[in-house]
Amino acid sequence: MARDSGGGDASSLTVVANRLPVEVAADGQVSVSPGGLVSALSAVLSDGDRWVGWPGAGRLPSEHGQLDGVVLHPVPLTPFEMRQYYGGFANSVLWPLFHGRLREVELNRTWWRAYRTVNERFAATVIESTPLGGIVWLHDYHLLLVPRMIRRRRPDLRIGSFLHIPFPNAQLFSTLPWRKEVLLGMFGADLIGMQLPEDVDNFLAAAERCTDAVVRDRSIVLRRRSVTVGEFPISIDFEHWDALGESVVKAAAAARQRLSAAVVLLGVDRLDYTKGIVQRVEAFGELLDDRLLDPEQCVFVQVAVPSRSDLPAYRDERDDVESAIARVNARHPRADGSPVVCYLHVGLDEAELATWYRAADILVVTSLADGMNLVAKEFVASRGDGRAAVVLSEFAGSSHDLADGAVIVNPYDIEAIKHGITAAIGLSDEVKAARVAAMRAVVRRHDVRRWAEGFLERLDDVSVQSRRSAS
Ligand code: UDP
Repeated sequence: MARDSGGGDASSLTVVANRLPVEVAADGQVSVSPGGLVSALSAVLSDGDRWVGWPGAGRLPSEHGQLDGVVLHPVPLTPFEMRQYYGGFANSVLWPLFHGRLREVELNRTWWRAYRTVNERFAATVIESTPLGGIVWLHDYHLLLVPRMIRRRRPDLRIGSFLHIPFPNAQLFSTLPWRKEVLLGMFGADLIGMQLPEDVDNFLAAAERCTDAVVRDRSIVLRRRSVTVGEFPISIDFEHWDALGESVVKAAAAARQRLSAAVVLLGVDRLDYTKGIVQRVEAFGELLDDRLLDPEQCVFVQVAVPSRSDLPAYRDERDDVESAIARVNARHPRADGSPVVCYLHVGLDEAELATWYRAADILVVTSLADGMNLVAKEFVASRGDGRAAVVLSEFAGSSHDLADGAVIVNPYDIEAIKHGITAAIGLSDEVKAARVAAMRAVVRRHDVRRWAEGFLERLDDVSVQSRRSAS
């Protein structure tokens, strides 16, 4: 794509994210980090572009200074800083607050100070490494203060920032003691991207409520410049998941045979309290209790990827999920001794994941709050056969794109999940095929390349306009 305007090295991109696309373990072992962001951005990264992020517990060896031509700029953090900035402020304050306060928000002032200090270190690395007139693209809630820190010292840079998680309503956001500093930090960008229109509305309402900024249309008007805010729902590499789905057909058939069930339901999530795993397991258990489903005919495979397990809220969630699963399995033993809820507490690689996607009849997503939920999009992309259905929470961002094909449910309502599951199972083959085709068409059209290019093109437009109005 063309990335060009203004003077300096205007086509040069610096991506800034909490993590680098490689991870160095404490013993020095280097591995390519798993994660959608790496593949999401590969379409727009060119040789010589930069990625700024935390390298992991170890030190990045000089021979790993690049990945596919992208220069890696590590921001080292001590274990203490990681606990305070990442485990503390990012994941025990911002994460629960931005997901509608599903867990207690611990307003710890020491964590806030650590967050500011670490954000300053990220900003310093960007400032040192980005050439004149370059583009900076920041990602997510770990780095909300960085845009302003960069702009103060490098007004030549074009700065975009994308929030991958929801933005809460203005009243909830205003409970944050550091609300103004967070918003002013974000205002340092030329373009702020959110997943959905309602996130944009919430953000603009918070800006009006908590700062002196004037909100006009979808911009925040400051004294010398304006900040554009827009929705850019993230997506996946459709062709990649489509091809993966076709490549695992045999493995999927074998996996299905091992389960020996006529109907296979599937859940795939990080083990996070936002995902509503307990609600879905309970709904499935009640369908078995009510004899609407037969444990000899129907099994539920739940992949739960270990996540943030050093935080108490996540350890509690794991206990809750595992107890819920154990209760259903105890109530509904299968004749061959296999569990009716097959629980996999592991992170799978893409081929393994695609195998489960392809082996299942119904994907069940019951997130209580979720910026997008890429799993739902990956699932439909991998189902070129069309013999599948999706039960999808109305609180997952992907429910906007997949509304025409998925069975949409309120995950707070166990009866609604139960109805959704039975409705999905009851769809005829023709209806399933038509619905999957409709969802695949949307994901194919709005794939991740379009998302990334669309964001950068908009950043190009708004920074040119903003420069004209400032001169
Ligand atoms: N994923 C994975 N291995 C697994 C389960 C999931 O690599 O065992 C990936 C999956 O392909 C998807 C991502 O993790 O790209 C999950 O993204 P999503 O938006 O659904 O949820 P998040 O974890 O970002 O909240």
